[in-house]
Amino acid sequence: MEVGSQWYNRVATEIGQHQMTLGEKGAKQYKLDLLRRVAKRVDEFSDICAECQALKQEITNLLQELSLLVQMPGKEGLKKHIKTINKQVEHLKKVHKLVDKGHYMGMGIGIGMAVGAGLGGALGAAMDNPGIGTALGVALGVAIGMYLDKKARQEGKVI
Ligand SMILES: [Zn+2]
Repeated sequence: MEVGSQWYNRVATEIGQHQMTLGEKGAKQYKLDLLRRVAKRVDEFSDICAECQALKQEITNLLQELSLLVQMPGKEGLKKHIKTINKQVEHLKKVHKLVDKGHYMGMGIGIGMAVGAGLGGALGAAMDNPGIGTALGVALGVAIGMYLDKKARQEGKVI
C-alpha cells in the first residue's frame, strides 16, 4: 500500500500537531482522528471521483479554519466543523460504499434486541427468565456484528 500523497502527508502532519495541542479530549471533540481517516480515503478516491477531488480542497480549508477555531473556540464553529466532516463521511458511505467503524456491531445489537424481545416472550416463560430472549438476541447480534466488522476491515471498507 502506498504511503499517501504529498497532500495527505501534509494534512496528516497538521492534524497530528492539532492533536498534540488539543490533547486527547479536545482531539476527540473535533473528531480529528476521523478527519485524518476521511482525508486518507478522499485522497485515494480523488483520482476517480471528482467530488473527492473537491473534498480535498474542503479539507484544506477546514484545517485552516481549525487553526483559528482552536485559538478562539466557539460552539458555532465547532458545529460547522463537525457538520463538514459528517458530510464527507456521508459521501464516502454513499458513493464509495464504506462503513463506520463498528457499523455492523451497532446494527447487530439493534437487530438482536428486536429479535430477542420477540422470542423472549415464549422463551422467557418457558425458562422463567423474562430477560433471556433479549440477552440471547444481543449476544448473537454482537457475534454476527463482530464477524461482519472484521470482514469489512479485511476488505478495506471501514473508514
Ligand atoms: Zn468520492
